[in-house]
Formats: sequence, C-alpha cells, structure tokens
Amino acid sequence: TTIVEPPQPIVTYRYHCDSSFYLEPLEEMLKDAKTYGLLVLDRREAAVGLLVGKHIEAHRTLTSTVPGKQRKGGQSAHRFQQLRLIAIHEFYKRIGDAASDVFMAVDQKNFEGILIGGPSPTKEEFESGDFLHHELKKKILGLFDVAYTDESGLPELVNAASEKLSDIDLIAEKKLIQRFFTELVSDSGKAAYGEESVRANLLIGAVEVLMISEDLRAERLTIRCPNGDHEAKLTKAFKPGEDYFSPGPCPVCGYSMEVVEKVDIVDELSEMADQMNTQVEFISTDFDEGSQLMNAFGGLVAILRFSTGV
Ligand SMILES: [Zn+2]
Repeated sequence: TTIVEPPQPIVTYRYHCDSSFYLEPLEEMLKDAKTYGLLVLDRREAAVGLLVGKHIEAHRTLTSTVPGKQRKGGQSAHRFQQLRLIAIHEFYKRIGDAASDVFMAVDQKNFEGILIGGPSPTKEEFESGDFLHHELKKKILGLFDVAYTDESGLPELVNAASEKLSDIDLIAEKKLIQRFFTELVSDSGKAAYGEESVRANLLIGAVEVLMISEDLRAERLTIRCPNGDHEAKLTKAFKPGEDYFSPGPCPVCGYSMEVVEKVDIVDELSEMADQMNTQVEFISTDFDEGSQLMNAFGGLVAILRFSTGV
C-alpha cells in the first residue's frame, strides 16, 4: 500500500468501477505545480487568485468607492472628474498591493507569470501604471477580455488565456530540449542521455535539469535470490496487464530469482533529483523535439552542471 497526501485539494467527485485504481487526477497534480497569478478588475471590483497546476484558487476580492460617472448637482464638473480619477488611482493601488502580496508569497521557482483580465481600457490602464511590484510587472504574460471581475472572472480568465498558457509550456519545453541538443553537439560533456549515464550523474549531484518524457513508462525492480546470495536492480518497460515477471536464474547458484520491490522509475528518479536540488521537467511528445526525446533518447536526458565523463 502506498499512502499519498494530495499536494492540492481534490475538487472532483467521481464514482468509478474498474479493475484498476483511478489515479490520473493524482498523477496530474504531482506532475504540475506550475503557478500563474490571476487578476481580474474593473473600476468597481477586482479579484486576485492563483492557478496552481489545473486548480484555481481565489485569494482576495476588493470593491472600490469610485463614484459613478454621473455627478451630483452642485458639484463642479472639473472637481468631480478630479475626485473620480483620484478614487480610481487609489483603487488600482489597493489592487496592486493585494495582488503583489498574493503573488510574492508563491514559491518564485514555480511562478510562471501573471494573467490580467477585465474590460478595456481598465486592464490596460492598470498594466501601464506602477501598481504591481516592479519584479512582478516583468512577469505579466498578457491581457484578456473577461466579462466578470469578481471571483467568477478567475476561471473565465484562465479559459481566455488557455491557448497562450499551452504555448508558454511548449515554448519552455522546446527551449530546454534545444539547450540539451546544443550541449550535445558542442562536445561540452554537459549532455547526458541513456538511463545508466543519467542515473550515475543524478547520484553524484551533477545534473542541473533532468528531462523525462511524459510517455516514459518503466519500473525499477529489485530482484533477489531466495538463497540470499545475490541481489540486483533492473529497469523494465511497463506493460499494462502484466502481473508476473520472472527475473531468471541467480548468477551465483542458478536458483530462480524473485522480484522483491517494484517502483515507478519516474517516482524513483524524481526523488533522486529532489535530494540533489535537480530541476525536473516533464516533456510532452506533442512536438518534434519532444517525440525525439522519447524515441531517440529513451525518454530520459539530462543537462549537467559540469562535465563528468559518465
Ligand atoms: Zn542464488
């Protein structure tokens, strides 16, 4: 039995009868901790949230005291306009402060950027002013038209930006693979591929970025002779439905060896990477270089911090 504490709340309910456990939503969570800042606003209200993996969290809502466009009798038009602009500016400031608080609290390693939604020209006005922390301003990925600017505007914003988001993911993955290929052809010794080499480099902490194909399915087995004279580890491609695997005879005494432990290779390598502060990236096979990673390099490559010769 394996006990897993979900890293994010489980938001779907599912009744499912099958011969195997339905783990896809959990696997999805483990794969993607990428976080985007979400902000929707107009002159009356605003909402600040985060997109963590595929889960949207609402963090703050704000309402303004900006007066409507109609002035009361007796007030000079000029004075009214001035007060209105000041109130709008104040509201943008409050939004900027709230958003900066929420976005700066995110682990910046996973923080991919900020999406802003709302009607025009409000969101453009907000973007061009200095309302967000200056470090965050650089991380604005785009402005999107949304109709709602309360909490319900947050999922609307994610929908509106979804194409942009998948492009960003893909571009980041492409850049990484291109870096790997550049190291590979430059003979710098900083590109490792093949399970054995990647594993050896991981173990000594030489890997800067570990790239694992999303299509990689393999298990790491520990095999042992019942007579206790031999133990070894081996990697086997995962075959669905295969519940028995014979590791063959013991090289010492010839007796049939047994599988005593079985772990998913992705879990095993990710754990090794964690211990050595190695960045792990999962690469989809939806583009040329990505499928090349799977088909030509066995789904496993690494960019090294320095050349190791292994
Ligand atoms: Zn033996």
